[in-house]
Amino acid sequence: MTKQMNFKDLEVWFVTGAQLLYGGDAVAKVDAHSNEMVEGLNESGKLPVGVVYKGTVNSAIEIADVFRAATNEQKCVGVITWMHTFSPAKMWIHGLKDYKKPLLHLHTQFNRQIPWGEIDMDFMNLNQSAHGDREFGHIVSRMRKNRKVVAGHWSDPDVQERIAVWMRVAAAWADAQGMRIIRFGDQMNNVAVTDGDKVEAELRLGYHVDYFPVGDLAAYQDNVTEADIDDMTAAYEKEYAIAGSCRKGGACYSQVREAAREEVALRRFLKDKNAKAFTTNFDALHGLNQLPGLACQRLMAEGYGFGAEGDWKTAALCRTFWYMSQGLPGGCSFLEDYTCHFDGGKSAILQAHMLEVCPLIAGGQPRLDVFPLGIGGKAAPARLIFTAHQGTGVAATIVDMGNRFRMIVNDVEVIAQPAPMPRLPVASALWIPQPNLETGAAAWILAGGTHHTAFSYALTAEYMEDYADIAGIELLCINKDTTIGGFKRELRYNDLYYMLNRALEA
Ligand code: MN
Repeated sequence: MTKQMNFKDLEVWFVTGAQLLYGGDAVAKVDAHSNEMVEGLNESGKLPVGVVYKGTVNSAIEIADVFRAATNEQKCVGVITWMHTFSPAKMWIHGLKDYKKPLLHLHTQFNRQIPWGEIDMDFMNLNQSAHGDREFGHIVSRMRKNRKVVAGHWSDPDVQERIAVWMRVAAAWADAQGMRIIRFGDQMNNVAVTDGDKVEAELRLGYHVDYFPVGDLAAYQDNVTEADIDDMTAAYEKEYAIAGSCRKGGACYSQVREAAREEVALRRFLKDKNAKAFTTNFDALHGLNQLPGLACQRLMAEGYGFGAEGDWKTAALCRTFWYMSQGLPGGCSFLEDYTCHFDGGKSAILQAHMLEVCPLIAGGQPRLDVFPLGIGGKAAPARLIFTAHQGTGVAATIVDMGNRFRMIVNDVEVIAQPAPMPRLPVASALWIPQPNLETGAAAWILAGGTHHTAFSYALTAEYMEDYADIAGIELLCINKDTTIGGFKRELRYNDLYYMLNRALEA
């Protein structure tokens, strides 16, 4: 097993399909090849989850047994299948029927090349995945089951990268099943795009959304001691550049201590409730001194998903982004489309929020400062101020279209700010939505996308495609190839597809 694995407690199972037609020698060879391949995959250093070879399956009973075991094994986040020889696919029906975890079909072969001089009928019968993988693929398609198909030699780094992407998504999918999201207060009144059907979300996406009055969080503050606050502010001093007024004796020092009190309380609350994500609402802060900005920023960096103004869907997605990108370079954050900058080919959107941007995307050391906030009617909140570093990334959202969830993904390029913004006291990122602002933003708006997104430098649209496939939700990708005409057609076709799909399900 490699040292690079980021999900040590999880497993992906590898199941080889064959049949007994070719005799005992063939079975032994299939098994030896499979072992060698799994070992090679694990030693590649490319895979974030360990692969466990679960043997060759030669009958419907063996297939049903291995999928049932995969379903019941908590550590198993997905199954990779590969047909070494031919595996008549009716044998797979019962096993696949009840299997609900992620599935990856690896269309590969033990040998890289055809041994032209030696190949005979025995060799061809033993190494016939070109044949067997088509038979298997048919039944999965016939059963309308989503899966990822990766084709190529198993030792090829590109193939391993594609498996690695799926593994991370499968791990994050497992993490999301039963994930508890806590909302302090409700959705911001009258806001449509961030709201949605929480029952359908639990059915479809697996996570559970709970409400707590913010007063419950306020009560947690009573148990935060001055020593807890000292520890917290000491951590701030270590990690950030602290504005003069926020240091001991400064005019805003007491506000920093109040922010620290909120952070200690919030972290304890989330731990006690076993939550992985949370939302706040600037309009529901009874019993709190200030909008918890600094706390949200720091908790995001620890892996808690966050959504502002009650946005539980983005909170869940932010957690999923953080979880699946563990160990990869480049951070992730909750962000919001705020202000446009029109400048020809460099037209861009300034991403920020009132306060809550994750410092994992910072281009340099964040500055901790305190400024008044115009809304919410509370005292001036502490926040980390920084500019996101340059680089390509992906922004995504999930919206509720009434009859389905729709994931919208946009490739973005974070660029340097043309000039400093000395009077803007929040963290920000400036990005060009691909293919450019005119098409990227128009497509996003046509798709009904949110102003809130989950953003990551480490992830790509391929992760989102795997996620949407596993979840069985609609996916719309906006990228360098997007045209408005084509995108509108896709929207119309998808509407029809989901309408028919629902009618068929009913
Ligand atoms: Mn917002």
